Amino acid sequence: MPLYEFYCEKCRKEVSMTLTISEREKGKVACPTCGGRELRPLVGTFFAKTSRKS
Ligand SMILES: [Zn+2]
Repeated sequence: MPLYEFYCEKCRKEVSMTLTISEREKGKVACPTCGGRELRPLVGTFFAKTSRKS
């Protein structure tokens, strides 16, 4: 399962979670700390893993 990083607007900190693709697409992401849904995906981490292929 891929690891995703989000920024929680409520906690004001970064949280990382492992989600399946379908979980993520359904928007079933909630902060593990406060249970809030106000999570902003942190782009960059995903790119760093996939952009280099050669
Ligand atoms: Zn939170």
